[in-house]
Parts: sequence; C-alpha cells; structure tokens
Amino acid sequence: MVAELIKGNEIAQAKRNEMKEEVSRLKKEGIVPGLVVIIVGENPASLSYVKGKTKACKQVGIDGKLIELPEETSEEKLLEVIHQYNEDESCHGILVQLPLPDHISETAIIEAISPEKDVDGFHPINIGRMMTGQRAFLPCTPYGIIEMVKAKNITIEGKHVVVIGRSNIVGKPVGQLFLNEHATVTYCHSRTPNMKEIAKQADILVVAVGKMNFIGKDYIKPGAVVIDVGINRKDDGKLTGDVNFEEAEEIAAYLTPVPKGVGPMTITMLLQNTILSAKWSHQVGVH
Ligand code: NAP
Repeated sequence: MVAELIKGNEIAQAKRNEMKEEVSRLKKEGIVPGLVVIIVGENPASLSYVKGKTKACKQVGIDGKLIELPEETSEEKLLEVIHQYNEDESCHGILVQLPLPDHISETAIIEAISPEKDVDGFHPINIGRMMTGQRAFLPCTPYGIIEMVKAKNITIEGKHVVVIGRSNIVGKPVGQLFLNEHATVTYCHSRTPNMKEIAKQADILVVAVGKMNFIGKDYIKPGAVVIDVGINRKDDGKLTGDVNFEEAEEIAAYLTPVPKGVGPMTITMLLQNTILSAKWSHQVGVH
C-alpha cells in the first residue's frame, strides 16, 4: 500500500480562496475583520511566524496589524496593550506570540485577552466551551487537523483515535475535538508503558511529540490515517516530522507530509477564527 498524502498546503489554499471571497462580501457590509499580532522580543523563529501570520492576513483581506515590543517590556505594559485592543471595536482577534520572555506570565497574558477575541483558542473560557461543545474559538492546530481529515471525507465517528502527546496546545485539544466528532480517543504520553500496542490499534494516529522519526511502521496499523504534527529540523536544515515518512507511506492509507502538511493549516485556521470573530461581533451568521 502506498499512502495517499493529505496535502495541507492545498487544502489550506482552497480554504484561503474561499475566505478571500467571504472577506470581500463582509467588506461590502462594512465589516473589516481585524487581527492584532503582538510579539515581545526578537526571537528570530517567533518573528518569522508572526510575519507569516500578518502576510497571510493580507492575502485574504484581513486587516493584520503587527505590534513589536522590546524584550524588556513589562508584564504591566503588555497587559495595557491587550486591554487597549480588547476595547478596540476594529480589532476582532488578538494573538500574543508565545513563548514570552521569562519575566512575563503567559497565563496572565492569555487570561487577559478577551475570550471574544481569543482567536488562538488558548483562553480557559474557550477551552471550557470547546470541551462542553459550545460555540468557541478552537485552537488552530487541532482545528486544522480536523478540517484536513474532513477534507478527505474520512469518517471520524466511531473510529479509534490515538493521540501521542498531551500538550495544552496540540495533544489535549486535538483529542477533545475528535471526541466531539464521536471518535473513541486514547492519549499516550511519556509515561505510557505499552505505547506501541496502543498506537497499533489506531484507525487515526495523531503524533505530536517533537522527536524526529519517533514513529516507525511498527506503531501503525495497516490502513490507518497518520497525522504527523511534529516539526523538527534535520542537520541539513530541512524540516521533518515525528513519523518516519518512508515507513509510514508503505503501511498507512493516508499520511500528512512535513512540511506542507499540518503546518499550513494552522495559520489558515487563525484566519478562519478572525473572520468568525468579526461575524459574531456583528451578529452575522448567528442563530
Ligand atoms: P510539547 O509541549 O513538547 O509536548 C510533547 C508531548 O510529547 C508531551 O505530552 C510529552 O509527554 C510527549 N512525549 C515526549 N516524549 C515522549 C515519549 N518518549 N513517548 C511518548 N510521548 C512523549 O510539544 P507540542 O507543543 O505539543 O508540539 C509537538 C510537536 O508539534 C513539536 O514538534 C512542535 O514543533 C509541533 N507543532 C507543530 C505545529 C504545526 O502547526 N504544525 C503546531 C504546534 C506544534 P509528557 O506530557 O508526558 O511530557
């Protein structure tokens, strides 16, 4: 068997094309979706991520604003900036790029963002709403994963989903979203003793560990759907996932590549959340 690739870049592009049309329709009604991205410090990787986010905004017509604050910015000052945009009606989404410098509490910052503008979906209110199946901003990477699986018309209901990794931004919420879609979900993590046996039972295997080639073919049930969230840099500078691609390709039915898999979906869902926020704040599409 040679796995069919789930090409996140193509699915993301199709979604962005639709979003562009939706934004232009909203603009005709006087609604301009606005996203404010705040970065503290000059971490090159973070800078490149935030620039990617504001560039993607422009592509679909969202008003993306980048606020660059110096490394020594105090927590108080950052909270002040967040409060300013919480009050600003032209701003529908606020994203503070993580990680923050050590002297700033990430929890305090995430909780300061209005849940109605928390387009990253990290605020405890949105996490609670997601868990209870209420309307919520869904965290972008997990949301993107569900959308990729749906784009391939893969049935989720009744399937056994095994998630390897339990971080707050990927592992835990992606399992919850699959549960919301009526899958049976099992989590594995660094203290799971019999991971190989559990992984091999998965109809859909999601790997979010952050270790190159961590999952080989002996972890994969023939015909499974394998979602590789990992982003690791090889010695030659190229990106690779957590799954041994060549081995997985031989045994899985569907497989996400790295790069051009889950990654491009993450920013796309951020754009989606910003558009949703603009619509919800103007009561568009609210029933
Ligand atoms: P993280 O916070 O470091 O979490 C890693 C998880 O892997 C933890 O739950 C950890 O278990 C588990 N783990 C570590 N070693 C393990 C082992 N030997 N066996 C089983 N589980 C093990 O990482 P993350 O933020 O979730 O990110 C995971 C990967 O996804 C990274 O490569 C990251 O760059 C990538 N990522 C990609 C995107 C995207 O858009 N494509 C977005 C976010 C993250 P414990 O909890 O027990 O320690």
